[in-house]
Amino acid sequence: MIDDLKKIAQFAERESRLRGKVRIRTLKTVADSKREYPIYSFSLGTEEPTAPVLMITGGFHGLERIGAQLAWSLMKTTVERMTWDNALSELLGRVRMVVLPLVNPTGYYNYRRSNLNGVDLMRNSPIRAIDDTPPLVGGQRITNKLPWFQGAPDSFEPENQAVIEAFESEVKSSRCAVALDFHSGFGLKDRLWFPFSYTTKPFDSLSELHALTYLFEQTHPYHIYQIEPQSHGYLLNGDMWDYLYLEFHKASTAGLFLPVTLEMGSWSWVRKNPLQIFSKHGAFNPIKEHRLKRTYRRHHLLFDFLLKALYSNSTWSELDEPTKRKHHQLGIERWYSDLT
Ligand SMILES: [Zn+2]
Repeated sequence: MIDDLKKIAQFAERESRLRGKVRIRTLKTVADSKREYPIYSFSLGTEEPTAPVLMITGGFHGLERIGAQLAWSLMKTTVERMTWDNALSELLGRVRMVVLPLVNPTGYYNYRRSNLNGVDLMRNSPIRAIDDTPPLVGGQRITNKLPWFQGAPDSFEPENQAVIEAFESEVKSSRCAVALDFHSGFGLKDRLWFPFSYTTKPFDSLSELHALTYLFEQTHPYHIYQIEPQSHGYLLNGDMWDYLYLEFHKASTAGLFLPVTLEMGSWSWVRKNPLQIFSKHGAFNPIKEHRLKRTYRRHHLLFDFLLKALYSNSTWSELDEPTKRKHHQLGIERWYSDLT
């Protein structure tokens, strides 16, 4: 994977049409006993601080390898298209893509969910759940020998420091940003989860989230996703997206940040190929080549939609008061009817 990312970087350097349009940074370097790994960020498109941003992250959980591979695949396609697609170039003249394809390289290369300190990076922020979380899976500080370990209460792991650095420098100043974070796990369906993870209360940006969902479903009525708050799955402590969402909105009252997790249902891969569950990374990833390729293709529609929705964001991110109230009400009826 690191070599694949280096190839994209070399390609971007070689191609004169990409000069200045693909900016690559090593945010941090982490290591295991064998080697060092860079945590890269690729920034594509405009550098205007307030421009709309699509942030893409993969590989928070090292075992869920398909997430990093999907981020790489989408980025590779985009960089190739930037050499000839004038419509995309125009779009990226006004929108920025910030991609961290492999947040947790030591986990990825050592077939672990956590990083090498045994910390679950999606449980590592200081956000504490205010409603009940399931034992262990909701985050625990007992021992790093068990999964879902949150790490030290007052510090971020280096991988999350890298995510925060990218967020602070390229996302936080945006007037309208969406994050799409790739995971895979149990379940048959591909789910899009939005905050919160720390509480069952409705998401603070429910109006805009519902307006964006409405636009997506009007445009693509036969999409494949189950869209719901993370709290419909399970609550957890230390979610990074809750943390970054609350940080963004603490600093900016005018801007909007919608973090969304794509949880790819892996049971269908296991069901069709049951023996893969015994392989090292089988339970969370498609193994057969054609299934891997299908997964790459499967999410292009969503990716393309989000880029275009960000380019034309005022229709869903800058709602007048009556429209805002309408979307809030529809969102409550759709996702939080058990709370009313
Ligand atoms: Zn995950």
